[in-house]
Amino acid sequence: MTIATMMQQQCFVAGIWVDADSRKTISVTNPANGEQIGTVPNCGAAETEKAIAAAAEAFKSWSKTDISYRVGLLRKLHAALLENQESLAQLLTLEQGKPLAESRGEIAIGAAYILWFAEEIRRAKGEIIPSPSNDRKLLVTHQPVGVVGAITPWNFPSSMLARKLGPALAAGCTVVAKPATATPYSGLAWAALCEQVGFPAGVVNILTGSSSDIGGAIMASPQVRKVTFTGSTEVGKTLIRQSAETVKKVSMELGGNAPFIVFDDADIDAAIEGAMISKYRNMGQTCVCTNRFYVQSGIHDEFVSRLKQATADLTVGDGMHAGVEQGPLIDANAVSKVEQMIADATAKGGHIAEGGQRHSLGGTYFQPTVITNANADMQFATDEIFGPLSAVFQFQHEKQAIAAANATEFGLAAYAYTRDVGRVFRLSDELEYGLIGINSGLITTVEVPFGGLKESGLGKEGGSQGLSDYLETKYTALAGI
Ligand code: NAP
Repeated sequence: MTIATMMQQQCFVAGIWVDADSRKTISVTNPANGEQIGTVPNCGAAETEKAIAAAAEAFKSWSKTDISYRVGLLRKLHAALLENQESLAQLLTLEQGKPLAESRGEIAIGAAYILWFAEEIRRAKGEIIPSPSNDRKLLVTHQPVGVVGAITPWNFPSSMLARKLGPALAAGCTVVAKPATATPYSGLAWAALCEQVGFPAGVVNILTGSSSDIGGAIMASPQVRKVTFTGSTEVGKTLIRQSAETVKKVSMELGGNAPFIVFDDADIDAAIEGAMISKYRNMGQTCVCTNRFYVQSGIHDEFVSRLKQATADLTVGDGMHAGVEQGPLIDANAVSKVEQMIADATAKGGHIAEGGQRHSLGGTYFQPTVITNANADMQFATDEIFGPLSAVFQFQHEKQAIAAANATEFGLAAYAYTRDVGRVFRLSDELEYGLIGINSGLITTVEVPFGGLKESGLGKEGGSQGLSDYLETKYTALAGI
């Protein structure tokens, strides 16, 4: 498929491409130049209820299909993603802004999640538990949880849906999904591919439009048995509250505030490489992006000088252009937030070592920035930056670094660079984070459980744990044997 045929401007409900009942649409723009790319339907509660009804109807048969049939469809979906990787990546960059190379990577990991869950469902074993008496057998079995509501963010508009569709479809669940309004086409492309490879009508439904209306209908419906959300902690908390009414299962992948600790004994080349990937990937707009660099005093000046140079060397521009490493930020609010954090930091003694301004390209481009002399009173010590701003704090002792790293309500990703094996184990034990990268700034892979502690979330995506969140566990006692 070409980028034009991949770019669906309608929603997919009950196996049919539809407009909003009101015919209202929402404009979608390219953050690289502010121009309109197209429109998508502005759906609300009524269309969502139709989608939920279709998903509930489809669940009756889909949940009873042979695993080998579902695995076959997922394998076809995996192949279709890779066949269309280039046009899907272009569509992603067009609406989201990240460099094309990163978009290609996102499509590849999304495809890998689909394949992983197609494999993993074959290992979703039950148990026969030894019974306390010989006349009984105690069976533990798993069943698909039911209709799943999936709500995804703009920063990984394709792979965040992959992590939800993959396990849901493998398990035998049906799905009603709502992609972020800023980046709807990467989500709608999943519906086009699912249709193309032959998923039955109603199994996958994807709607765009009002987040509170679509989200509200999903949360209120007793037919939706699970909600999986990736996005901000604030919205996640609202959804958790709303889930109480119908006692839904929830999976929440929420915000982060990742520390990146560099000890005096670190391999500095590796630390700089890890710093750049963990800080500036997707222009700093990932939940696992480094928010706070803690650098030990003996290596601080060299690390800052190298980070400053590497940051200055980044090529900023339209993500579609070859060689570009930093695209535009998603919107004007994202730019204002970074500016506000820079102003706050400089007012409290921070020093701008690199960048610090809007980029001369205009629009939502921002200079990759480094601020040194950071302290715990600055806004970025506690709040997610979500932009290309490196904040560097200095520390003296290991305990001080660990305490500072943990001084946040978030607990998604943390990174540390050291060659001391004992310290590696102390960090693994003491950092209050769901994902810990030692001597690596890029650790996501489909085989492992991805998810945060504390207010960064509930549940895991990926690994075997990412499938069990879509399965109910049942116990059957066979007596009188
Ligand atoms: P967001 O504002 O929370 O939006 C996420 C999704 O929720 C969007 O589809 C949004 O729709 C929808 N939404 C907003 N309000 C809603 C409501 N009241 N009811 C139902 N749905 C609602 O987050 P974002 O700005 O798109 O994404 C950035 C955040 O996601 C960051 O905090 C980042 O750390 C987090 N994130 C976490 C992970 C992880 O795995 N832990 C991964 C990626 C991102 P609209 O687009 O229509 O507003």
